[in-house]
Amino acid sequence: MAAVSERLSKARRIVVKIGSALLVDGKTGTLKASWLASLSEDLADARRLGQEIIIVSSGAIALGRRKLKLAPGAIRLEESQAAAAVGQIALAQAWSEALRKHDIVAAQILVTLNDTEERRRYLNARSTLAMLLAQGAVPVINENDTVATSEIRYGDNDRLAARVASMMSADCLVLLSDIDGLYTAPPGMPGAKIIPEIKEITPEIEAMAGKPVSGVGSGGMITKIEAGKIALAAGCNMVIASGHGLHPFRRIAEGETCTWFLSGANPLQSRKRWIAGTLVPMGRLHIDEGAALALSRGKSLLPAGVRRIEGSFARGDAVSIVSEAGIEIARGIVAYDKDDAALILGRKTSEIEKALGFRGRDEMVHRDDLVMTGGARV
Ligand code: GLU
Repeated sequence: MAAVSERLSKARRIVVKIGSALLVDGKTGTLKASWLASLSEDLADARRLGQEIIIVSSGAIALGRRKLKLAPGAIRLEESQAAAAVGQIALAQAWSEALRKHDIVAAQILVTLNDTEERRRYLNARSTLAMLLAQGAVPVINENDTVATSEIRYGDNDRLAARVASMMSADCLVLLSDIDGLYTAPPGMPGAKIIPEIKEITPEIEAMAGKPVSGVGSGGMITKIEAGKIALAAGCNMVIASGHGLHPFRRIAEGETCTWFLSGANPLQSRKRWIAGTLVPMGRLHIDEGAALALSRGKSLLPAGVRRIEGSFARGDAVSIVSEAGIEIARGIVAYDKDDAALILGRKTSEIEKALGFRGRDEMVHRDDLVMTGGARV
């Protein structure tokens, strides 16, 4: 297990969630520009070290409600949606400018619950994010509050950030919050102590989460614990740290007191386990020898290597990949619906567009979505 100081510095892909109370001044409803500048400097340092950064930023509603002159206190859903519509523009602009000072290109992504739960949309969101990271950009994500109604809403960015971390196989999730970690009892109570390290979320840990406390954001310790469950299941470490004061990210690396949730697994193992063990294959792709060889060398499955398909599957479903000898050699998440897959099988990638009438993906199953199972005769 890495030393405390290395948990952040050794992470390859980091999701950083910033709570509204940190970014937006509770009294004036305006953005805390110098705080944002100091965090951007920390994140630019991390980028220079080769770490990939994804930001999940709250603050749209807090910023917008003041601009719309909505009354303080609880507001109705339509009001918060209107506030988000106004605040999100300012939020995105602030991030874009703060990162541009470090020659970093920011990219805005607004997501709803469906985008991370439904597999087809999940694949789309994931490949867009992967492309942005590959180009060196920093995605800045928020919930699409203006269209998300209560049934399709996260409502808090803690869980949204954890879903993003899991979806992107991040190895560290940083929750910057107005509290520096999880305490054994409400902070301030006699005997309340911060818990530096959690390896498993037990009912006792959940009981310590208590009730939400922050006045500006919508999360509390409960949603942070929920986020911890998602992150740990995905093989991602998570840290709850105080964002108060300048350079909050750097201070974590310097060993400031916080609560670390440590996963025993890594994101790749967890994802492969999910693909191979949890998802039920909805169909079979029979592939030729050349493709089987390519797969065993860690390559993606291209349409050209597929000879025949069986079953009824949609883009985003799991499928079994079967060799010429009738043996399942791998499982993966397929990038095409069954009917489209049937039209492009055996064809070169350059012929996909002509066969389908749209550009489509180059791979039938991308290597990141593929697990060698090397197994049973089917
Ligand atoms: N999406 C909300 C906003 O940007 C924040 C949700 C949260 O506080 O976690 O205002």
